[in-house]
Parts: sequence; C-alpha cells; structure tokens
Amino acid sequence: MTEENQDQENGGMNKYQLKKLIKELEEIRGRNTELVSLYIPAGYDMSKISDFITSEQSEAENIKSKHTRTNVQDALGKIGRKVSEEHTTPENGVAFFAGNISDTEGRPDIEIWEVVPPRPIESRHYRCDKEFVLEPLKQMIIDDNIYGLIVCDKSKAAIGYLQGNSINTVYTMESNVPGKTRAGGQSAQRFSRLRKEMLKTFLGDIAEKAQKAFLDKAREDKLLGIVVGGPGFVKDKLLDDDYLHKELQDKVVATKSLDTSGEAGLSQLVEKAKESIEDSQAVIEKQKVNKFFKNLKEENGKSEYGLEQVMKAMKMGAVETVLISEDFSQYQAKYECENGHEKTVYEREPQIDDSIECDDCSEEMELEELSDIVDVFAEKAEEMSSDMEIIGTDHEEGKRLMNMGGIAAILRYRIR
Ligand SMILES: [Zn+2]
Repeated sequence: MTEENQDQENGGMNKYQLKKLIKELEEIRGRNTELVSLYIPAGYDMSKISDFITSEQSEAENIKSKHTRTNVQDALGKIGRKVSEEHTTPENGVAFFAGNISDTEGRPDIEIWEVVPPRPIESRHYRCDKEFVLEPLKQMIIDDNIYGLIVCDKSKAAIGYLQGNSINTVYTMESNVPGKTRAGGQSAQRFSRLRKEMLKTFLGDIAEKAQKAFLDKAREDKLLGIVVGGPGFVKDKLLDDDYLHKELQDKVVATKSLDTSGEAGLSQLVEKAKESIEDSQAVIEKQKVNKFFKNLKEENGKSEYGLEQVMKAMKMGAVETVLISEDFSQYQAKYECENGHEKTVYEREPQIDDSIECDDCSEEMELEELSDIVDVFAEKAEEMSSDMEIIGTDHEEGKRLMNMGGIAAILRYRIR
C-alpha cells in the first residue's frame, strides 16, 4: 500500500477498492464450512472481540473433520492476532475475512483480509461458512441506481422503486373508474364509454407519475429497468397502448400478474420479478460497457481506451466514466533520481524494478511510490468528478472490455 492510501480520510478503503475486494472475495469458496467472516461496528470493545474469538476457537474443537477444524482454528487465530493489534476500532468499524483458499486438501493456505469500509458497519456479525458473508459490504457500494416499479389495476396504482434491497413508494393513486354496476338512468353504452374514458385518464395519470419518478434517472443512466405488475388487464394496457414515455417503455424488463394492486403490490412485484431483476451491479456494468462500444461504433469521439489514452483524458477532466476490468492488473511506479528527474512507469507487478537508470542524467532512479492502477484512477476520478466502474468478466460485456485491453472511458465530450 502506498502512503497516500493509508492517509485516506477515514483510514479506510474507497468505494472502488471495496468493489474490487468484494469481487475477489466473492470468488472464494471453501472446501468445507471453513471461511470466517467477522464484522465489528465502530466503538465496539475490542477486548470483547478477543474473548469471543477465543471461545469460538475452543468451540471449533467440536468440528469432526480434522482439516476443517484446523483451518477454522487457524483462520480464527489470524483474526485474533489482528484484533489484538487494534486498540480501538476504526471510525467505521472493521471486518475480517479469513480462511483456507488452497485447492489442495491437506495443504492449507490461510489468508486474511482486513477491511476498513468507507461507510459504518451497522452491527456485529460472525459466520463460518463455505463462502464469505459480503452482504453488509455490498450494501455500502449500492449507488443511487434503481429499478422502477409500477403496480396497477383499474382502481388503484402505486409507483415505487427498488434500491438495493429496499422498496420505496413514490406515488399511490386511486382511480374514479366506476365498477361494472351502472347507476339507474344511464344507458349501457354511455356507461361503458364513460368507464373507458376514465380508465384512459387513469392510465395517462400513471404514465405521467412514472415519468416524474423515473425519467431523470433514466437519463442519468441510473434506471436499471422497470417492472410492471398488477391484477387483471390494466397493466398490459398501460404497455400495449404505449402510455409510457418511450424512454421508459424501453426500460421495461418484466410484466407480472399479481393478486393485489396499489402499494401492497410493490413487494409482491419485486418477489415475482426476481429473475428479471438482475444483480444491479451486473446491469450497470453491462450498460456502461455497451455505452462505450456504442460510442466507439458511432465514432462520435466519446470513447477512449488504453491506459495512457484514458489517463490523458482523465487529466483533462473529459472522462464521464472510466471502466476498468477486474482482471486488469497493473501498477504505477514513480521513480526519481537525485537530480530531481521524475518518471512514471506502468507495469505488471513482477516486472517492477526497485531502481532504473535516469534517461536525463544516467543516475540511478529510486522507486518512490508504487500504486495499484485502480487506486490511481480512483483518486483521479474523485478529483475530476468522474465515475468509475470495476467491470466483472463473468458476463459477455466484461469479456469484450478485457479483450479491448481492460481499460476504457466514456467521455463527456470529444477531445480529438
Ligand atoms: Zn536524472
């Protein structure tokens, strides 16, 4: 770690580093129930944690498999040593992940990760499992990206959104569409026409409210999709008769029949549309990569790729979003000679030299600073108010990005 990283405001990771780490930890599977996750909120008494670890270690004596038992105890031991080094919990608390990451039975490789997150850990949590518990960390990197939710039938409607795991209601509406029984004196034809008109008005109102709720989000690329549901035919009519704004209509990913309408239907809609509501992170990644390739194809000058090119655009403040593949692994090495000449080199780690010869004066240049490229870009992104996405390679779009060299940018404006 470079000194700059350690000096970060809360002493913890930034969002990008955390995203990268989550991806790394997500990949790890224990051979057995032997991966330990421990979350400690800020202000927690560290000596209590030490006692807890000691008791869990003796509890682990009961594990039947010798390998698993030893691995769990060793993982806890590593965490215990880290805990004893900490006198107070960091401002946002701290999380530990430890366990055997070796693929070979009987030849353990116990790794430990210590995470000081960018946002506070809310509660203490301990688990020993085949995978690490990452949900609390994932909640911290949920941005303001949402899924739009529309639930309606002929009498009620609700518009809300899903952000992370929480459902929020934005509008609830009731219609004046009368029931099927008409009042005395009206002709059946007239009554039916009236009902149709009122339903049209209601659908128009729903569309208008949906536009208010979602259109800005869609234009900021923060609307991941829209799901529509409700009992009966009204939800279908809303879509089939093109009531929704075109940009919103294009975002509809599923339509579901529900038992109930209005606000009460929102959670049922989320439940039923689960398969269409993809992991929001993956959706964002795909959207961003697609936008980059679209720009490239249109030759509108709003895309750039390759480390040096992207860095150059970044320094100009021209980058809207920088995309870095999770498989992209490079380091920035800064060298300086005793005559004050400086040189920055980008390399894969194994090729980094402690010293190189100065191009200007042939003196020896010392390695002054070594940083992960993700950190370098994260810092620049913050400075220039650019967004940054770490792109997974478990989807087609991510693989395409990696094939392009693993680093790309969507620009705010054309620079050449
Ligand atoms: Zn020099």
